[in-house]
Amino acid sequence: MATRAAKSAITGNAVTEGSVTENSVTTTDIWSADELAEARERLLAEIDELHTEILRAETELAAGNASEGAGDDPADAGAKTYEREREIALTLNARDVLAQNERAIARIDAGTYGVCESCQRPIGKERLQAFPRATLCVACKQREERR
Ligand SMILES: [Zn+2]
Repeated sequence: MATRAAKSAITGNAVTEGSVTENSVTTTDIWSADELAEARERLLAEIDELHTEILRAETELAAGNASEGAGDDPADAGAKTYEREREIALTLNARDVLAQNERAIARIDAGTYGVCESCQRPIGKERLQAFPRATLCVACKQREERR
């Protein structure tokens, strides 16, 4: 019987902790000032377009209201109502997108653009360049849609 008498002397050796700064962000997720400026510009241009669109729809709605009088053909009135409801829906949608754009710009200005609002991980530049208003990463977005 061989006895292993190798007794390791445990000397309360403190493990020296190296100051490891963990950085899980890959270079493709880091936005340069130029890229951020470009994204901001795109969002701003879209806001302009949306403003124009909302204004046009509202003008049309106002005009529709004004021209609506007694003696309208019922079918005609029905078509007008449908048209107006469609315009209202479009306007609401445009307002929603506009608000999202403004929020994205606020995030750029706050330095939080590109960070998932749910898991705080980078959303990914590629996704944001396709969907500049995205506030969730693909995984979180899919989870949300499945609800
Ligand atoms: Zn996420």
